[in-house]
Amino acid sequence: MSDTIKIAYLYEDLMNTYGDSGDVKILSFILKEKGYDTQVDNISLGQKFDAADYDFLFFGGGQDFEQSVVAKDLINHRETIKDYIEDDKPMLCICGGYQFLGKYYETVGGDTIQCLNILPFHTVFKADSRMIGDTEYETEWGTVRAFENHSGRTYFDDKSKLKPLGKVIEGYGNNPEDKAEGMRYKNTIGSYSHGPILKNENMARAIADKIIAAHKKRVSA
Ligand code: GLN
Repeated sequence: MSDTIKIAYLYEDLMNTYGDSGDVKILSFILKEKGYDTQVDNISLGQKFDAADYDFLFFGGGQDFEQSVVAKDLINHRETIKDYIEDDKPMLCICGGYQFLGKYYETVGGDTIQCLNILPFHTVFKADSRMIGDTEYETEWGTVRAFENHSGRTYFDDKSKLKPLGKVIEGYGNNPEDKAEGMRYKNTIGSYSHGPILKNENMARAIADKIIAAHKKRVSA
């Protein structure tokens, strides 16, 4: 049995705003403590990618321009990412990466970035305010404190299928109206939190446990 956990960092070179790569570093640190080495592959433009080869997928935040570039390539990986998510395997998507799991992102200029359309939500830009600042919300793993900086406002289209990651105490989260931050579906988490989010240790340890379980399942299959 291989004790090397395989992590795919989707478009690490293009999608990494406000220190999101720290999430992967924190997970690698915790996994090392638990006896596992990690191999982190940057899956960038034009590369072959089979999500089933991995124990964890990470997708960081990005600016609108980078998102428009990534969108054209990402669509090639729709089926493998969808199967991975439906298979209950762990994935964490931050901000622009989170937006990509939904139907579309209507940007500042009114252009629409087609997203993966794997989960039933959509994101729209509203001209009157960018959501920037500290954020605090209650989750299954306790209070999470982080930082957000986004123009997109995310709305769930099917609330029976998606759960928010947390209930907002401070900041905006998905949008200014719902008092909801982020999204959970099976073992996939979407969040607007940078900081990085996994400086919140309880959450990081819970995700590390999910990764170890996925790794054991993959190598024993
Ligand atoms: N460009 C997107 C927005 O402004 C995502 C920003 C981010 O990933 N930080 O909503």
